[in-house]
Amino acid sequence: MASRKYAGFKRKLEEQKERLRRDLETAQETAPSGVTSADEPSYSNHLADEATATYQQEANLALERHLERELAGVDAALQRLQNGTYGRCENCGGEIGLERLEALPTATLCINCKSRQENRK
Ligand SMILES: [Zn+2]
Repeated sequence: MASRKYAGFKRKLEEQKERLRRDLETAQETAPSGVTSADEPSYSNHLADEATATYQQEANLALERHLERELAGVDAALQRLQNGTYGRCENCGGEIGLERLEALPTATLCINCKSRQENRK
């Protein structure tokens, strides 16, 4: 059974998913919700404060996007574990290799395809 081989990864991925979900919740909670609301009572009269707030909003949004992407990657990996395609390279169908998966459980490409993809950039 191929799934036996990757048995440890399920828990690993589920833990990662849990962690990402918490991080995402935190990011969403700290993100200012009234981005479009005009009736903010404490309208800032300090340009520096506003710049900081905008910067923080953007940083938060970038973090959220990043976490969402990570989460999607973890979900996809769990999906692959379930249907038995986990550990296979999406490009060439070869084995990704345990060592690489240990380092990056959400990897979808073997090291050869990955480096080829990166060289193409
Ligand atoms: Zn490959």
